[in-house]
Amino acid sequence: MPKPRPIPLLDLKAQYDALRNELDEAVLGVMRSGQYILGEPVREFEAEFARYCGARHAVGVASGLAALELALRAAGIGPGDEVITAANTFVATVLAIVHAGATPVLVDAEEQTANLDLEQVEAAVTARTRAILPVHLYGQPAEMQPLTRLAKERGLVLIEDAAQAHGATYRGRHVGTFGDAGCYSFYPTKNLGAAGDGGMVLSGTRKLAETVRKLANYGKRTNFELDLAGYNERLDNVQAAILRVKLRHLDRWTELRRRHAAQYGDLLAGLPIALPQEAPNRRHVYHLYVIRTGRRAALAKYLAQHGIGTGVHYPIPPHRQKPLQNYPFAGQTFPVTERLADEVLSLPVYPELTESDIERVAASIRAFFTRRRRS
Ligand SMILES: *Cc1c(COP(=O)(O)O)cnc(C)c1O
Repeated sequence: MPKPRPIPLLDLKAQYDALRNELDEAVLGVMRSGQYILGEPVREFEAEFARYCGARHAVGVASGLAALELALRAAGIGPGDEVITAANTFVATVLAIVHAGATPVLVDAEEQTANLDLEQVEAAVTARTRAILPVHLYGQPAEMQPLTRLAKERGLVLIEDAAQAHGATYRGRHVGTFGDAGCYSFYPTKNLGAAGDGGMVLSGTRKLAETVRKLANYGKRTNFELDLAGYNERLDNVQAAILRVKLRHLDRWTELRRRHAAQYGDLLAGLPIALPQEAPNRRHVYHLYVIRTGRRAALAKYLAQHGIGTGVHYPIPPHRQKPLQNYPFAGQTFPVTERLADEVLSLPVYPELTESDIERVAASIRAFFTRRRRS
């Protein structure tokens, strides 16, 4: 019997193959222009991504981590300031706060969405709190209305980590446009990914956007004079040219991700696993399709034997990371986050999958749970 075609967790080569001509043209165009940094493609992509999200200002930067750190710094956050964020997130969210010199204050996740638990956010506010940094984890927007209200009432800066949520909306509005700044990553595996690193800061405030732009370019005011002691965290022209091409396909890709998720929902119903829940008023873009099971290791192994790739996002939460043990959260426990770390398993959900690929993944999962167990 021929071995079935492998289904990896993600297949970036398939995406490239589908867009080969457009992408090759875009990259070659930049190569031939002789201009690689601070050029037209970056300006154009900034304008297009801002328009796509409905944001006033957009500044391309070198990564999602840079977007978060520079947005925090541009908002004036630094030593002595507490920033409340999600315990259940990719570690870069917490690193950005640390690199800005501020103190991360972590809040546990809610079971349903794996996003920030609102009640715990309110309880975590102290006299030193300067900002709230919600994360739209797995592509599902956090509950923005109460967070926006809380930030306004308490006079807190609101910065969104939208690194996993390109195209996601909350009450019809794109994530990254609710607070003082919205931060995106264009790491290759994200829903909108470059062929290298990239990021973006969105803002409704010109001053914040211009400060991020300066900070990303050494803090330069003119070619020779500094306004700020800045960094080199710019988005480059090749990445911007690639992202301009891919942005035109993003909504179609999102629809396919959502269709795959719906198909999984139908085919996996009734099994002893928790499936992702789409909360009300939100458009989930399924950066990751994350199920929960107490038998994760065995299921992942079984799927691998059947040629199906899976992932774990994330096995070690930030508060358990060794280099972060000198922060106040190190001694705390976050029961939901810790349970998620033990139980989550990401299934393939990328746009290039076919209906029959999803059927195969689902059938294998069903077989794992229904096969006769060896005693
Ligand atoms: C990917 C990611 C980041 C960091 O983005 P990079 O471009 O990899 O630096 C930050 N936060 C979240 C939630 C992410 O998924």
